Amino acid sequence: MPIMIDTHAHIYLPEFEADLEAIMHRALQEGVQKIYLPNIDTASIPSMLALTQQYPEICKPMMGLHPCSVQDDWSTVLDDMEALIEKNRPLYSGIGECGLDYYWDKSHIAEQKAAFERQILLAKKYQLPLIIHSRDAMDDCLALVEKHRGDDLRGIFHCFSGTREQLDKVISLHFKAGIGGVVTFKNGGLDKVLQYTDLPHLVLETDAPYLAPVPFRGKRNEPAYLRYVVDKLSELLQCGSAEVMQVTTDNARQVF
Ligand SMILES: [Zn+2]
Repeated sequence: MPIMIDTHAHIYLPEFEADLEAIMHRALQEGVQKIYLPNIDTASIPSMLALTQQYPEICKPMMGLHPCSVQDDWSTVLDDMEALIEKNRPLYSGIGECGLDYYWDKSHIAEQKAAFERQILLAKKYQLPLIIHSRDAMDDCLALVEKHRGDDLRGIFHCFSGTREQLDKVISLHFKAGIGGVVTFKNGGLDKVLQYTDLPHLVLETDAPYLAPVPFRGKRNEPAYLRYVVDKLSELLQCGSAEVMQVTTDNARQVF
């Protein structure tokens, strides 16, 4: 059976506490063999690391500060996060999630940019992939990545939702586009953009508990639902589900 990699899931959040074992069981049954955990802020670190200890073969933690959690103290928060990486570099699989979000909060845009840039530098310094969150801020995100582009910088534009031109830019920067439940949404618009791309540029993600694919839209998302993303991608790109799984899994392995 082909395997899948969920490159982005917050299954360490309280939403999953009650039935975590069942969730992990369903994920493995569907063929999801690795789940990468993006961090959010200081408060989310203990539960993320606890989950990693519980399922060390499957769950891989990342370290970073989400743009919606960037406050005036971002610099010391990132100092502390870097100290954690320094203490146990092999534990972490990536830097993130980080980036820019102008949708929820426009009051800290300068700080968001500074925190993002610092995390780009961390990705380069520790040779880790960068996991980027961008909402209403794609061009600014691309500009900052472009500024630091190089052989030592790679990663994923998580929950990609940009234009065809922006997708071309993502690819030219040697990044992948993370594709999740949004691809199954009616009027999501992603289908039109993805027509012009190819599997080698895509990785799978759920962003659980958010953005569950149809037919679970609006409900809690979980890694086992990657199957619905695969089916939609195979329809859009006119290839078999097994091929979608195989290539996106290879892509994820390249990134991580
Ligand atoms: Zn996320």
